[in-house]
Amino acid sequence: MADDLLGRHRRVLPDWLALYYEDPLELTHGEGRHVWDSEGNKYLDFFGGILTTMTAHALPEVTKAVSEQAGRIIHSSTLYLNRPMVELAERIAQLSGIPDARVFFTTSGTEANDTALLLATAYRQSNTILAMRNSYHGRSFSAVGITGNRGWSPTSLSPLQTLYVHGGVRTRGPYAALSDEDFIAACVEDLKDLLGHTRAPAALIAEPVQGVGGFTSPPDGLYAAFREVLAERGILWIADEVQTGWGRTGDHFWGWQAHGRSGPPDIVTFAKGIGNGMSIGGVIARAEIMNCLDANSISTFGGTQITMAAGLANLTYLVEHDLQGNARRVGGLLIERLRAVAAHVPYVREVRGRGLMIGIELAEPGTDRAAPEAAAAVLEAARAEGLLIGKGGGHDTSALRIAPPLSLSVAEAEEGAAILERALRSLQ
Ligand code: PMP
Repeated sequence: MADDLLGRHRRVLPDWLALYYEDPLELTHGEGRHVWDSEGNKYLDFFGGILTTMTAHALPEVTKAVSEQAGRIIHSSTLYLNRPMVELAERIAQLSGIPDARVFFTTSGTEANDTALLLATAYRQSNTILAMRNSYHGRSFSAVGITGNRGWSPTSLSPLQTLYVHGGVRTRGPYAALSDEDFIAACVEDLKDLLGHTRAPAALIAEPVQGVGGFTSPPDGLYAAFREVLAERGILWIADEVQTGWGRTGDHFWGWQAHGRSGPPDIVTFAKGIGNGMSIGGVIARAEIMNCLDANSISTFGGTQITMAAGLANLTYLVEHDLQGNARRVGGLLIERLRAVAAHVPYVREVRGRGLMIGIELAEPGTDRAAPEAAAAVLEAARAEGLLIGKGGGHDTSALRIAPPLSLSVAEAEEGAAILERALRSLQ
């Protein structure tokens, strides 16, 4: 890069900011499912969908809503009546399935989870939290304290007492060989055992599909089984839908619905792509829980008119174009295609996922050992052919993550799968 942007980045930004690729990319623009870098290279984006761009890059409907609102007013989100915020809250409350739902907007997933923790600890008068092993919930002081993924949880003196529960992942170890039913039973026993050793936790927080953890899905029904145990004791269930919400998983609008037997969670948090790049996060909870705080609380930027305008335009597009159905159909084809490829690549241990949230777990051939170098090599090989994908997993980062914008076409899915096939086969 002519002006040494990478050197400047390294001199002025923290070392702990992860950058992808040996020769990191600077993205300069995007359109639909494609992005371009500063050298003019074009890429099919199989990762941005889970980060910022839920529907499509530079979606004209969102661009128009944002620029019109920017030319009109951006002011305090909450001190004065805020029409776009009320409208988006109404839409989200209605879609949430939570009775008597109230919505609070934040600027990020971290702040959403932080707010959920504030509510749950205040409501239950307890600072003990149950969280899942390998989980990721954000980067604030309290969010790292409930993040089980050691690779993303810097040592902190969290204000919370956290107990980690089995169940979010079963790729390796003694749980890997169990049937779904036995796995659920073992995790429920583990939960009960933990509860026997502690007093009155406030809540269990869980991602229905672990995102940063490598797109690992527990068997359907795990959280319903947990819920029964929790409900008996008055412990709240917080579903972190930051990656799984809005139809990404195809079969369901919310990830928790795969576990829906016992009804909606007490609290749902969301963020990432709902603003299609504008920073929206939020918390949905029953009024009784949302209103348990005994003093004012506010977020200056959470729910500003400009982010809400983006969210409304994006959500309208998502629903009117049935992007959940698209995630189910195109994601289903993509998973099938990748499973067929995987059968010929010894490094692939598992292709898993739902909708357009697909994980490919790599391991050293014939072993159980994580293969982080192989994962990094596939990322580089795919980039060289014009495809961006992500990686994740435990701190060994041995899973590839595929999460395109939800408007992905069948032809684009085919194109990406062909590149991935070559990238995976190059491992041999
Ligand atoms: N929860 C989950 C499940 C996430 O994946 C993330 C972001 N990776 C967060 C919370 C935190 O969101 P943010 O980065 O917007 O603070």
